[in-house]
Amino acid sequence: MKVAKFGGSSVASAAQFEKVAKIVMEDAERKVIVVSAPGKRFKEDIKMTDMLISLAEEVKTGGDITEPLRRVVDRYASIANELGLDSSILDRIEHDVKELIRSLHNEEPTRLLDAIKASGEDNNAKLMAAYLNQLGIEAHYVNPKEAGIFVTDEPGNARVLPESYKKIWKLRERTGVLVVPGFFGYSLEGKIVTFSRGGSDITGSILAAGVKAELYENFTDVDSIYSVNPMIVPNPNEIKELTYREMRELSYAGFSVFHDEALEPVYKLGIPVCVKNTNNPQAAGTYIVAKRNYHDSPVVGIASDDGFCNIHVDKYLMNREIGFGRKLLHILEDEGISYEHTPSGIDNISVIIRENQFDQEVEQRVFDRIQKELEVDNVYVERGLALVMVVGEGMNQSVGIAAKATEAFARANVNLEMINQGSSEVSMMFGVKADGVEKAVKALYNVYFNELMTISYSNI
Ligand code: ASP
Repeated sequence: MKVAKFGGSSVASAAQFEKVAKIVMEDAERKVIVVSAPGKRFKEDIKMTDMLISLAEEVKTGGDITEPLRRVVDRYASIANELGLDSSILDRIEHDVKELIRSLHNEEPTRLLDAIKASGEDNNAKLMAAYLNQLGIEAHYVNPKEAGIFVTDEPGNARVLPESYKKIWKLRERTGVLVVPGFFGYSLEGKIVTFSRGGSDITGSILAAGVKAELYENFTDVDSIYSVNPMIVPNPNEIKELTYREMRELSYAGFSVFHDEALEPVYKLGIPVCVKNTNNPQAAGTYIVAKRNYHDSPVVGIASDDGFCNIHVDKYLMNREIGFGRKLLHILEDEGISYEHTPSGIDNISVIIRENQFDQEVEQRVFDRIQKELEVDNVYVERGLALVMVVGEGMNQSVGIAAKATEAFARANVNLEMINQGSSEVSMMFGVKADGVEKAVKALYNVYFNELMTISYSNI
């Protein structure tokens, strides 16, 4: 059995629905289908999820919902009418969205937002099931509650609960193609809760783990995952195979093709993931697996992401002070700030966080506490940082990878603000000023993928 997830652009129009149906029909093992809400059809188009967020905003503020509601319904209508679906399905969608809004009036804003957002995938799954039926395929829309996707009650940021898997296993007994909406589950109290943005990948992964699929196929709009962002380096190397750990590191640092939390369920069971192109399903795609032969390519990809800042703390004899790091992180915890990395020296420590968590007001409070409670010599923040990650399982057994990286930064004339390499040695991380990041990434790509590398493997 295979689970196939189709992302927003794969289900954005009637023409895309036709491609999806063809892919589903081509392989009888594709039994569980997960769909996103309609995504962009062209660059300036608006995603259904974003339209629904605007609609929720109007509902919340008591504004006029006529126009945003019409936009939502029109978008489904453009798909349904072109596919020749019975108009009753559109009436139902309109009725359901209105009913949802009415029933949510007294709910907290975050609940309202989640339920309205979730309707994007929910209605699209209903449309997809109806379309497959029209083609003579036995297909059933399956609501996530019926499927057994139970999640933590964290609006906009849900996590799957372990009890889900037993119930999901029962889906194997069902006949026909099961069409499940992505992006949301239900709390144990029965409330709709969404995953973070792009979370339909997570739904697919949970279902693949629950039914113990032999493969989780993730259909998107590119032939493969590339070694570097194609907007920075044109026509980059296609990755044929990479490991779960490599994918996790790359998606953390900006590879948006696959959600960075989506690997957890399948990774535990060793279920391979294949990222494929709905618009070119013949292309082999990229496989994400437990192990790969890294000898040909110790480095698999280079990722970069900006929007970070560095809280730098100096204190003489910091290394002798037991509990310093804990107290520092505790101050951040009190402010609800999650930290990303903490490279440190003998008498200093840097805490790298996402900049959007650190406005001037928070900064002032955090600095006051650090100064007062930790009696530091100096504390300052450096904003506008980008992180560049060089990722590859082969790095831990090869000599010369780091030298190549620093050479690339020197050639690009980009100053290194920070270097961090975790003990797993799956990646090396570099902090640079955001305006130097493209130059750095290009130079790194050149040394690892365009130039013949002289790397030797140690015997360890
Ligand atoms: N529709 C949701 C979003 O745009 C979830 C997804 O597409 O995976 O974030």
